[in-house]
Amino acid sequence: MRYTQYFLPTLKETPGDAEVVSHQLMARAGMIRKVAAGIYDYLPLGLKVIRKVENIVREEMNRAGAIEILMPAVVPADLWEESGRWQQYGKELLRLKDRKETNFCIGPTHEEVVTEIVRGTVRSYRQLPFNLYQIQTKFRDEIRPRFGLMRGREFIMKDAYSFDIDDAGADISYEKMYQAYRRIFKRCGLEFRAVEADSGAIGGSFSHEFMVLADTGEDAIVSCDTCEYAANVEKAELRSPAGDAPSPSQPLSKVLTPNLKSIEDVAAFLKETPSRMIKTLVMQNERDEVVAVLLRGDRTLNEIKLCHLLDCNHVQLADEAVVRKITGAPTGFSGPIGLNCRVLADLEVAAMSDFGLGANEENYHLTGANHGRDFQVEAFVDLRQAEAGDPCPRCAGKLESWRGIEVGHVFKLGTKYSDAMHATVLDDQGRERTLVMGCYGVGIGRTAAAAIEQNHDENGIIWPMPLAPFQVIVTMLNPNDADVLGAGEALYQQLLDAGIDSRNLSIAVVLDRAGDNHVVLVLRHRSGDLVLDSLTSRIRPWNQTGYRFLAMQSSETKTEWEVVMNAPRSRNVLAQR
Ligand code: ATP
Ligand code: MG
Repeated sequence: MRYTQYFLPTLKETPGDAEVVSHQLMARAGMIRKVAAGIYDYLPLGLKVIRKVENIVREEMNRAGAIEILMPAVVPADLWEESGRWQQYGKELLRLKDRKETNFCIGPTHEEVVTEIVRGTVRSYRQLPFNLYQIQTKFRDEIRPRFGLMRGREFIMKDAYSFDIDDAGADISYEKMYQAYRRIFKRCGLEFRAVEADSGAIGGSFSHEFMVLADTGEDAIVSCDTCEYAANVEKAELRSPAGDAPSPSQPLSKVLTPNLKSIEDVAAFLKETPSRMIKTLVMQNERDEVVAVLLRGDRTLNEIKLCHLLDCNHVQLADEAVVRKITGAPTGFSGPIGLNCRVLADLEVAAMSDFGLGANEENYHLTGANHGRDFQVEAFVDLRQAEAGDPCPRCAGKLESWRGIEVGHVFKLGTKYSDAMHATVLDDQGRERTLVMGCYGVGIGRTAAAAIEQNHDENGIIWPMPLAPFQVIVTMLNPNDADVLGAGEALYQQLLDAGIDSRNLSIAVVLDRAGDNHVVLVLRHRSGDLVLDSLTSRIRPWNQTGYRFLAMQSSETKTEWEVVMNAPRSRNVLAQR
């Protein structure tokens, strides 16, 4: 591929709405272009990266025995009515009507469609198991589409669905996908963790998320420093601390804490640490049920754990009016004593005694409080968010914390969709059995973006080689010099001959005669051999396009090449040509 014939609309300025580095660099490198919020053009350079991710995904899916299909993007509402999701799925589902006023949606995921295929075609256990996948455009009307390809509204996903006669079979199918995903992200050259995840609204019994580690990731994950345990903090379990609470030794006393509302301020005033205080969070769910949650003062509530406990989809801090009604005081002074709602406490609270908490009276807190003696809790349950330093739930190790970007997700679905949509087969006894399903997604565009979040520096993208749009770029500083031009063309041909197709080529080779700007020798190219490995390890990243530029000069003999670093001049070169 010749640059003069390529379409590479790079930008000097970062678009104003590009908050994260991958979005900034992809836009500046001319990889993507915004059409509307969360909707992008994939320009040639961007599409090359997308295709590279797709190819790796496709090869590994095929290798794992999955079979490619393509389902429609526009899906009739009937199918979604059958599964119940037409009502359940919120505004993220883009709904539309055709000319006959029939309802459709643009598929945000395809469980219904694939289940319909299978129930309409598969009758016997002999046809099982199998796994059908597609690589296709999805639409989710995200509330806040942002971060470029990381969280788009229209985005490309690989989604796969496995079908088995029983649970044991479904576990095997799941394991195959889990292993295939490990291979996919390893082959992409990314540092990642497979973490236990909450199975959320899609339903299902267990799931893992594949997280690309990056400081800018939206997800918080923890992993054990000793064993294999790793989980999304949404899911990470915590055990009861060892030992019972010491017996109460202090009387309950009321202390004036004027205008002090935060745990930190009250603790400082009482000359205590927040960890010796209890915070009482009055929470409300979508059914307007109110519950008070007690946590150690320095801990954070895990809202997902609370949702599971209350069997609801959403919880939030109750508003002021509710807090006043329940506690008789404004927010900031809540406590469990005399509360007129359910009171749940985190496991850690069980091991605490003689603590400080809110008095349910404006400007007052209590000290020397003890559960059992001064108030009762309905239950002690795991409700807090795991953090670095917490004990591992599986072994004697400690948890470490990371930020990650969810690029893939494997779910064991069970029979949620096959039950609702009556997808059954006959088993070897002729009995009707409901299919057991799994579903498995990879965000193709998000994987490309995550690669950039993980691999960049102040000069721009440092592509992991398997995803680099080009591996080598040959540039001539002075193409009017016949020697240089000849050397450039020769090198280009050699690269092609060596099977390094420039269309698949992140190294740039800049050809020029010796000059003052040319510095250290990086590679000697003798007798047609290109030592790309030694070349890739020693070169510096260039600008936002992710190319790495080297200068190459011809030696007297012209059979031997010296590749030298020439960052400042090569920058100019691309800008001019
Ligand atoms: P998130 O929690 O980030 O919104 P999700 O859990 O809803 O994602 P899944 O339903 O598990 O997403 O979809 C499978 C994969 O599709 C995700 O792991 C992610 O890589 C990708 N994906 C999901 N939503 C988006 C989006 N809005 N833009 C780009 N990729 C996405
Ligand atoms: Mg997910």
